[in-house]
Amino acid sequence: TPDSAATPASAPGSDAAAGAAAPLIELEGVHKAFGDLHVLKDCDLSVAAGEVTVLIGPSGSGKSTLLRCINQLEEPTAGRVRIAGVTQGYAEKPLADGRWQKLPSAQIAHQRSRIGMVFQRFHLFPHMTALQNIMEAPIQVLGRSAAEAEKSALSLLERVGLADRADHYPSELSGGQQQRVAIARALAMDPELMLFDEPTSALDPELVAEVLAVLKELAEGGMTMIVVTHEMGFAREVADQVVFMDDGMILEQGTPDQLIEQPRSERLKGFLASVL
Ligand code: ADP
Ligand code: MG
Repeated sequence: TPDSAATPASAPGSDAAAGAAAPLIELEGVHKAFGDLHVLKDCDLSVAAGEVTVLIGPSGSGKSTLLRCINQLEEPTAGRVRIAGVTQGYAEKPLADGRWQKLPSAQIAHQRSRIGMVFQRFHLFPHMTALQNIMEAPIQVLGRSAAEAEKSALSLLERVGLADRADHYPSELSGGQQQRVAIARALAMDPELMLFDEPTSALDPELVAEVLAVLKELAEGGMTMIVVTHEMGFAREVADQVVFMDDGMILEQGTPDQLIEQPRSERLKGFLASVL
């Protein structure tokens, strides 16, 4: 069997029946194991275009791994992830013998470039200014001209409230400002959706609000987002759905009101008591 072909748990490929109402992000029976450690267990999730999902759960419950499976930093052990109806990591049609062909890495990189991700730590290039950080990928990956990339980077800096910091290096910016640059940098790739992994948890408390304000504005602009955060005020105000993970499983999901005000499981009640 060639390495490049494999059979996922269920048939992948683009869904011919996917209509306008099809979810933008769809996880079906996603499992992930690292050796003997079963980190994700049969996760199903559906996110409509333009919707904001807040993902909560105790440390080690699998939240980061779930995000990493969505943008192919990790490959699910079983199950599938579909974005706009297209199974990630696989060719859209099966081989003649019915097996599904894994995509070559260049095409996986292309799928990944459609998804913006922002981490707890900002990972800015320290030797580049805010402006240069934002211009880098559009030039290197999308082949934009420097002039075009600069114009777009300046407007993104404006959008995150940092027009006056374009020529500052990361070391000259506060944590909140660095995180806003990191968000602008992700947006510079014109992503179809954005994943945020605890974007404010490394920040001093007084810097959290400015980053959440940028996320809220993005959400209001119609961006599809999954946000791992324990900022329950943000979840209440901005989320369309809240998803609670525990021990690799999605235990509850629903509207903020259902999850936060009327938790069903003891585990969610206990978790909320620890963060509220
Ligand atoms: P969370 O983001 O909810 O804190 P993670 O997804 O980071 O949880 O981790 C879930 C579990 O998977 C943890 O037990 C973690 O140690 C383990 N894990 C995550 N990544 C790896 C890896 N690359 N190799 C081995 N174990 C991992
Ligand atoms: Mg995590």
